[in-house]
Amino acid sequence: MEPQKIDILSLLPEQLEAEILAMGAPKFRAKQIFRQIHVKRVFDFAKMTELSKQFQAQLNDRFYINLPKIEQKLASCVDDTVKYLCGLSDGSRVETVRMVYHHGNTACISTQVGCKMGCQFCASAPLGFIRNLTPGEMLGQIYAVDQGYPESARISGVVLMGIGEPLDNYENVMQFLRLLSHPEGRGMSLRHVSLSSCGLVPQIRRLAEEDLPLTLSVSLHAADDATRSALMPVNRRYPLDELLAACGDYFRKTGRRITFEYAVIAGENDSPAAAAMLGKRLRPVFPKQRPHVNLIPVNPVKGTGFTAGSAVRFQKLLEREGINATVRRTLGDDISAACGQLRRDAMTGET
Ligand code: SF4
Repeated sequence: MEPQKIDILSLLPEQLEAEILAMGAPKFRAKQIFRQIHVKRVFDFAKMTELSKQFQAQLNDRFYINLPKIEQKLASCVDDTVKYLCGLSDGSRVETVRMVYHHGNTACISTQVGCKMGCQFCASAPLGFIRNLTPGEMLGQIYAVDQGYPESARISGVVLMGIGEPLDNYENVMQFLRLLSHPEGRGMSLRHVSLSSCGLVPQIRRLAEEDLPLTLSVSLHAADDATRSALMPVNRRYPLDELLAACGDYFRKTGRRITFEYAVIAGENDSPAAAAMLGKRLRPVFPKQRPHVNLIPVNPVKGTGFTAGSAVRFQKLLEREGINATVRRTLGDDISAACGQLRRDAMTGET
């Protein structure tokens, strides 16, 4: 890390323009450099051949471009999923996953190094929280992954569902979304972006005000406060009634339905009574629409003691309650796809 220099990957064109003008260079240079980085994917000022050698050297003194380094890469044998362990400039590590869907290639990126939320079934929780990722480090995960593929196979969709709670790093995530969707750069429509939250109520309310066309997913994982608080400590701060009221308000404000995530854990949250309770709670959230629950067969994580319940059985129970439920296609099962597990194994020396 070079603290005196500016992280150019985190700057929007107008912010870069202010820096370039302060260097005494004409402002069109900012547009040129932004395009070189975000469209041409040139990450070395010395390779920006439209610029004079002298200006390249000045840029090098003022800014840095640090793409995460791919330290480990695990490719699935059963599908095209690839999981990456990305090393950051301060030695921290995060995970990124590239998934291939019929509609395009999607990156699941991390938003924090570690996480404060302490979910009991999560491989990242026991390692604690280290720091927030910068907007450039989030974007950098996508650019680092893209380097292994031809331009035609670049990432076209993003899921903020890797390590960290995106809404706990609110400002940086918003700046990342502005950068990702900027028409002078990658220009990705936010309709191709999903953001998953464990349920930080004030931030969900704030996000509703931004009116972004992204898809919001909220991880529920239980239909009663006692079970949810045991699985997800965040529920003690924002219990279900408060969370679901915020979800209903989000829908009224934005017109966009929220998807609820539910990891089916054997003996914990997969009973007929849990399905009935979930139905009772969710039906009023989006009146006139059937709520949508995405069921995830929980990934086994060493040390948690949780095992996967039958997502298909629970899906049938939910359908009876008037809830649309889908079972998430599990990609890359053979490459320890449980979020945070690759990083955890690297940090604890396990393989
Ligand atoms: S599941 Fe997500 S929010 Fe919960 S501890 Fe893990 S990374 Fe954090």
